[in-house]
Amino acid sequence: MMHEKDRTIVEISAGIEAQMRRHGVEYLSGAASFQAEVQHHPDVTIRVAVATSHTRLVHARHVLIATGSEVAPPAGDVIRIDERVVVSSTGALNLRQLPRRLVILGAGAIGMELGCVYNSLGTEVFVADYAEKVLGFLDADVSSFLLKHFLAAGFRFRMAHRLVSCEVQAGDRARVSIQDSVSGRVETIEDVDVVLIATGRRADTKGLGLERIGIHPDRTGRIPISASFEASISLLTDGGIDRSQERVRGRRCGPGNHAGS
Ligand SMILES: Cc1cc2nc3c(=O)[nH]c(=O)nc-3n(C[C@H](O)[C@H](O)[C@H](O)COP(=O)(O)OP(=O)(O)OC[C@H]3O[C@@H](n4cnc5c(N)ncnc54)[C@H](O)[C@@H]3O)c2cc1C
Repeated sequence: MMHEKDRTIVEISAGIEAQMRRHGVEYLSGAASFQAEVQHHPDVTIRVAVATSHTRLVHARHVLIATGSEVAPPAGDVIRIDERVVVSSTGALNLRQLPRRLVILGAGAIGMELGCVYNSLGTEVFVADYAEKVLGFLDADVSSFLLKHFLAAGFRFRMAHRLVSCEVQAGDRARVSIQDSVSGRVETIEDVDVVLIATGRRADTKGLGLERIGIHPDRTGRIPISASFEASISLLTDGGIDRSQERVRGRRCGPGNHAGS
């Protein structure tokens, strides 16, 4: 299954790269970050690390930031993603062995979707969430209908539970402790092969060097934008960056603000 998935990704990516070339789009593969603005220069400079020892500088009048989102782990540093035993959705889509027991933290869209995949392959699936309702963004009737379906398929739920700790032990087995927020009772799930963190996602803007060009994301990484989706320095004139755009209207935010991102 993973082999087929890897092959499909390679095929589709190669197809898209070919389309970009055909339409005159240059594709640079590498981490990009903004460089400090050059005074009286209207363009923004972006550094792209295209290889370990090779970078390219690209200048542009307009830049579209589309860096997507990353997993937002539970608060309090109680768990660390290693993409091996403790995984995000990225690691969960790349497991080389079928887990016997999977604990999913977060009963949202991603947790339940991947839970269904592994449940249908025969994995024992536990789902814990501090919310009371599975797929809480859905209408209550739909959520309880789906809950019945998940229970019939063999899922085990610990709703209204929060994560207390997760230890990865010798032999790559995890021990996950969760606490019932009503009774305060702590339960430990032993011998867990994989723990999937599906507790939400946040904007992936760190590492872009936005502060170097005067953009300050909020604490969840989102970029304040205007009603026309422009960041604070978007209007560049021949005299340099027009600071009048810093009067950002409203608090609509950039990457990560749309459902499912
Ligand atoms: C497990 C999972 C399942 C999902 N299922 C669905 C679904 O069924 N239906 C649906 O509509 N949506 C789904 N989504 C949401 C959907 O994937 C996102 O909404 C969508 O990918 C957002 O697109 P994007 O282009 O903004 O960001 P992304 O697709 O995340 O693309 C961002 C790109 O930016 C690159 N990047 C990041 N930082 C840098 C940098 N510094 N320099 C250079 N490149 C950088 C990343 O490598 C990546 O290629 C799912 C998401 C997940 C995680």
